[in-house]
Amino acid sequence: MQVADNMAVSIHYTLINDEGEVLDSSQDDEALVYLHGEGNIISGLEQALNGKAVGDKFNVRLDAKDAYGEFIEERVQVIPRAMFEGIDELEVGMQFQADVSDGPGIVTIIKIEGDEVTIDGNHPLAGVPLTFDVEVVAIRAATEEELEHGHIHGAGCHH
Ligand code: ZN
Repeated sequence: MQVADNMAVSIHYTLINDEGEVLDSSQDDEALVYLHGEGNIISGLEQALNGKAVGDKFNVRLDAKDAYGEFIEERVQVIPRAMFEGIDELEVGMQFQADVSDGPGIVTIIKIEGDEVTIDGNHPLAGVPLTFDVEVVAIRAATEEELEHGHIHGAGCHH
């Protein structure tokens, strides 16, 4: 069986930046299960997985635009503290759900100076080329319900 659209694919992955630092890994955890062909994982990784078989190991280096996107300067904004109504303690590193230019997204506070709060709507890994070390551990056909929902129903996830 090969990785193709409408397959539930389980992978182990390690995510590394160009400096060789490990940013994320599934190795000490359960494998990541996703529905192939639905854009549920980042596009460059999904493309690289096409046609792979169980047991295949490979690595793929993605430019930022194929991973979490380019860093967009306009997504960094200075806004007045008063915009954070109802939040007593603002701290650098806090994240909020907010409407950004292309829909709802996560913004992160990166600087606080008096009444001015600098927020960054870029993904924390935007602008970073990434290498994925991947091993395909399982492939199965997705169920009809999973296809209807556009995602996999794993352990503890049956919505
Ligand atoms: Zn569902």
